[in-house]
Amino acid sequence: MSFEFSFNNTLFLYAMTLFSALTTLTMIYFLFFRDKTNKEQKLPKVDVIHPSPAPKETIEFKDRLRSGLQKSRSSIWSRVKNLINGTSLTNEDKEELESILFQADISTSMVEKILVEVGKRGQGTNPIEDVKIIMKEVFIKHSPVLGTTKQLDQAWGEVDSAKLNKELQVIMVVGVNGVGKTTTVGKIAANLSKNGFKVVVAAADTFRAAAKEQLKIWCDRAGATLVAGAENNNDPAAVCYQALKQAIESKADYCILDTAGRLHNNDQLMEELKKIKRVIGKLLPEAPHETLLVLDAMTGQNALNQASQFQQALGQLTGVILTKCDGSAKAGCALSIVERLKVPIRFIGVGESLEDLNVFKSDEFVDALFDDH
Ligand code: GDP
Repeated sequence: MSFEFSFNNTLFLYAMTLFSALTTLTMIYFLFFRDKTNKEQKLPKVDVIHPSPAPKETIEFKDRLRSGLQKSRSSIWSRVKNLINGTSLTNEDKEELESILFQADISTSMVEKILVEVGKRGQGTNPIEDVKIIMKEVFIKHSPVLGTTKQLDQAWGEVDSAKLNKELQVIMVVGVNGVGKTTTVGKIAANLSKNGFKVVVAAADTFRAAAKEQLKIWCDRAGATLVAGAENNNDPAAVCYQALKQAIESKADYCILDTAGRLHNNDQLMEELKKIKRVIGKLLPEAPHETLLVLDAMTGQNALNQASQFQQALGQLTGVILTKCDGSAKAGCALSIVERLKVPIRFIGVGESLEDLNVFKSDEFVDALFDDH
């Protein structure tokens, strides 16, 4: 009897413990979990979008150049290629070839060279490659000389800025209005700054109000210092002088001068540019280290006349920057410029964006004139 009693008692105690444990667990569930789950369920659904890395610039300059030169290729160089690739070249073909090359503003001497080369064709020769070679040779013959001139091209590429001669380089950029001077100065400043160089830009096209604003945007983006005329200071030489002073004092690597492209007349423009050279020479006798002439490829043969005028006033130029090759069928005029002026093409522009300007490479250029891919 006593056994039965104690057994029932123990059973009762076990049952009570189990019951209170279950009650506690249920309360915990209702108090903490159930409420929370319900609350979560009540929130409207959202998409959490984590930042993805900015898209990398994937279009290589080689491809930009090829697409930029499409107009030249289709209206001039593909026709040249089709003609010289034929099995034989009749007199009529030769005349047509000559006329196409003249349309592209290729100089007479260059046209003659090409015709002679094409005439030499025999078995086992590759006329297209032969013509490409003589075109490339013109550029190679007048490629930039080693030394300070080369430095800008090197600094353009992804080089370690510490390895280059860090002496201040003054780059004077000249050209008539509208050729793309200011934009090009902005692009060069942006690229040099990106590569770790300290750049000071002079907005010395004081006769064109928009030039200062344009350069301000480029310099802000690039982290380059801009020196521009304050109110009533329309003296380009004074702006250049102050920019160079600023560059010397701040131990800059480059001082780039954007100059005027139009004054009341051409003689005044040339006199102003000569004055800039004289004035900056007082601060730094070897300045400018480079005088780069910007030419618009769309002007074709006319670019040569402009170049001769600048060269007469400023002495030998250190290079030409050929812009707007994308909008022109006459990008081939680069050949005549180099041949006639004996000045290398240093940079080539095929569009308005920063990535559309690059160091000129003759192989890349000639291949892009002839080949689609
Ligand atoms: P500036 O008067 O010589 O200083 O000329 P700007 O720098 O103001 O340029 C005149 C116009 O040409 C601007 O709209 C530029 O964006 C444009 N430009 C400059 N370089 C190129 C190029 O390589 N291709 C094209 N399509 N436009 C260009």
